[in-house]
Amino acid sequence: MLINTYYNTDTIVAVATASGMGAIAVIRLSGANAITVANSVFKGKDLTKQASHTIHFGTIRDEDKVIDEVLVSLFVAPHSYTKENVVEISCHGSDFIVQQIIRLLLQNGARLASAGEYTKRAFLNGQFDLAQAEAVADLIASDSALSHEVAMKQMRGGFSQEIKRLRGELVHFASMIELELDFGEEDVEFADRNQLRALITNIQRIIRDLLKSFELGNVIKNGVPTVIVGNPNAGKSTLLNKLLNEEKAIVSDVPGTTRDFIEDEINIEGITFRFIDTAGLRETTDKVEAIGVERTMQKLSQSSLIIYLFDITEITAVQVQAELDRLNPKKLPLIAVANKIDQASPEKIQRFESIEGLVTISAAEGANLDELKQALVEKVNLGKLNIQSQTIVTNLRHVDSLNKTYTALEDTLNGLDLGISNDLVAADIRRALYSLGEITGEITTDDLLDNIFTKFCIGK
Ligand code: GDP
Repeated sequence: MLINTYYNTDTIVAVATASGMGAIAVIRLSGANAITVANSVFKGKDLTKQASHTIHFGTIRDEDKVIDEVLVSLFVAPHSYTKENVVEISCHGSDFIVQQIIRLLLQNGARLASAGEYTKRAFLNGQFDLAQAEAVADLIASDSALSHEVAMKQMRGGFSQEIKRLRGELVHFASMIELELDFGEEDVEFADRNQLRALITNIQRIIRDLLKSFELGNVIKNGVPTVIVGNPNAGKSTLLNKLLNEEKAIVSDVPGTTRDFIEDEINIEGITFRFIDTAGLRETTDKVEAIGVERTMQKLSQSSLIIYLFDITEITAVQVQAELDRLNPKKLPLIAVANKIDQASPEKIQRFESIEGLVTISAAEGANLDELKQALVEKVNLGKLNIQSQTIVTNLRHVDSLNKTYTALEDTLNGLDLGISNDLVAADIRRALYSLGEITGEITTDDLLDNIFTKFCIGK
């Protein structure tokens, strides 16, 4: 039963489901003695004699006292998430019951798992590489179709393969140069310098694409930072509330969902739009004071998408155009939106036709909001995106490692141009390999692992 070769074998325990009342909760044990520990509190079949991937009904007992009726699932090493013996106890979803069962398991030889420890063990036991392990956290946090898709792809190894391929090619040259070093003073050249240059330039191009994809990856993972600007009383809060309420209505229609709302995020066609500083926006409508120019500009600088909202009954097309030019010198993606069309005649609305991409709405009546949503999606331009065929970086740690790799490769190229000695070229290549290896975990340090896995929650 003992399979762990490079990791300690204590048996860890944690609740794997969210706390609070639910139909069931799942407590997970992993480690060499997971099955024996579970067996010591379980009354039913002898768990130590059962096959892997079987489920058993019975009770958890504290001596003679029945704590709960449970189902126990067995995963015998190495056929489990962590590749260790794993037991999952499905009990009734009461925090009290969960606490009692965990207490019993601790008394019988398990210890509490630390944050991310299951996934860390899975990584150390070779279940997947580091980038894939990180994708597990992303998958759990995914809250839109796109973030789900990207995390799923990374978990299944799409991103890792690309990094490993680049690294493999570089390793080949590194070993050739190291070989030349072995020959010392003799004038041998195993590594064709022109080929090496071509390879490095190619890898740099791929890294640039990957780094560029982070812009998109970040948007997918964290949402598009969006800001609504406009004069006081233009209807900004009315619009935002309308958009948020529509979303909530959809979610709360699903019976039994007890989701917490993240107040100022809406999800349209799989894309999350995150509204910046909207609490402040509500505040200013109370005070009926103009948002200071500086503050508006600051908000704009944090956003990737601007909704400029104006009251069509209060302002002329010429004034709107002037405002647009002033607000958006950097030409960020912007949607001009005319509000309160319920108060304006068709002739009046027509006078605004010259404004590019104008959307006309009534926030109060909820008119044309679908057009506005469509415009938002089109601005982000994800609609056309085929993320299946593209590798997208979503993780800041990976960006950092890619940047370091890029610099080391640049140094290698410069070194080659200057004709520096082989050992220095070899050192630069090694540095590039090190940074690339950090992404997938071919190179790891305890600090790096701690950094990653302590961000996971307990039980993951
Ligand atoms: P903000 O200062 O830009 O946040 O504007 P508010 O959302 O507080 O709206 C200012 C006023 O305009 C409120 O009295 C709203 O009820 C009203 N209002 C907002 N949208 C519309 C609309 O589409 N039509 C009409 N007639 N009134 C609106």
